[in-house]
Amino acid sequence: MSIENATPVPAPDAAVRRYVADAARAIQLPGDVAEVLETSYREVNVQVPLRRDDGSLLVAQGYRVQHNGARGPYKGGLRYHPEADLQEIRALAALMTWKTALLDLPFGGAKGGIQVDPTQLSARELQSLTRTFALSLSHVLGAYRDIPAPDVNTNAQVMAWFMDAYSSRHGYTPAAVTGKPVELGGAPGREPATGRGLVYVVSAAARRWGWDLAGRRVVIEGFGNVGSWVAREFAALGARVIAVSDVHGGVFNDTGLDVAGLVDAVARGGSVRDADVAFTPISGEELLTLDCDVLVPAALGGSITAANATSINASVVAEGANHPVTPDADSILADRGVRVIPDILANGGGVTGSYFEWTQNIQQFQWREERFNTELRDRLERAHTAVAEYAESNGCTYRLAAYAIALGRVGSAVRTRGYI
Ligand code: NAD
Repeated sequence: MSIENATPVPAPDAAVRRYVADAARAIQLPGDVAEVLETSYREVNVQVPLRRDDGSLLVAQGYRVQHNGARGPYKGGLRYHPEADLQEIRALAALMTWKTALLDLPFGGAKGGIQVDPTQLSARELQSLTRTFALSLSHVLGAYRDIPAPDVNTNAQVMAWFMDAYSSRHGYTPAAVTGKPVELGGAPGREPATGRGLVYVVSAAARRWGWDLAGRRVVIEGFGNVGSWVAREFAALGARVIAVSDVHGGVFNDTGLDVAGLVDAVARGGSVRDADVAFTPISGEELLTLDCDVLVPAALGGSITAANATSINASVVAEGANHPVTPDADSILADRGVRVIPDILANGGGVTGSYFEWTQNIQQFQWREERFNTELRDRLERAHTAVAEYAESNGCTYRLAAYAIALGRVGSAVRTRGYI
């Protein structure tokens, strides 16, 4: 894990570049197109000063990176984290370009964040920081320019403050931000969409492989928005969630954890370790090596590296987090026959849900959650089928297939728009 693990993890932008280079070779992407896709279109670095409750001053760094907008307005989350530096945000912005293209959404890729530890801030401080950040970026944002969304340590409340600050300068613009509270134009179904979408993708893959998910052993690293919804959805399908973890450590129960009890503990502000359910405590490192059918890393990047990839005992790794598997680990897993469902497919439910929210805001219309879920499943199944067919006909991994499809689409948009 990038916070706790001492193993050196390759820079995330180097990882994304390597996947892109492999895919560019596979589809013989013209050199001029590859060159323009190698760097970001725009990288904004802003100072975000905050007057703390005790009167002291904190000057945080904020970022917004817009990687490529050939297929539509930039789209990507905002992360508040002590390790959210420009290099990490740059990699995540590029990932969004490939993700939106693979899912065939009319968006480009962006990412942003503030290098800060939000757990050390009061609600007033968090709101003030968010408003200052929104105003200092507002000239490069907008419903048809760049649309932020929640990511690590940001949520619907943060998006509400962000939208309010943006609207104070540009007029009421709910479509300028997604992941908002439902009463402010958020879409019912958006909050669970990433975790639920991951389970739709794994279900589609399982059907293709002739697997029945009922009774399968599932292990999840991270129990925030993504991880907790993955747990709920797998449990609803009759799978056995045998272990989950958060930043405080892991919990294990071979007969299956009581997922509702874990969700309750976290909703009360605690850790999974505080849950009133039957479990044996385990460390985050042990959790990753448990014998299971599906392992879902859903915390931060770089948790599966060359150092622990040989100890992974899962049949499938479905990437809930962004870039949780390093390229070296990816090769080791492929050689060992572990199937990896890459982040740009597996966690694409979040941005797909954001796309639904954005279109509904533009039309001032709201779908019911059932329709949201049906459309979500349909989009993700189509993306999965495209990846599976490409991988089967080219004898390659899902990751290479996903990048090849995405790169082909973005490359074609870059050319036909006359961008180069
Ligand atoms: P979150 O902040 O809600 O949850 C993060 C979880 O990870 C928390 O439970 C935290 O305790 C845990 N965690 C942090 N460090 C850990 C460690 N060292 N070991 C174990 N657990 C640890 O964030 P989220 O929205 O669930 O996002 C998780 C990942 O999914 C991120 O990589 C994010 O970029 C990615 N993602 C999120 C969305 C979305 O819609 N929320 C969409 C696509 C991708």
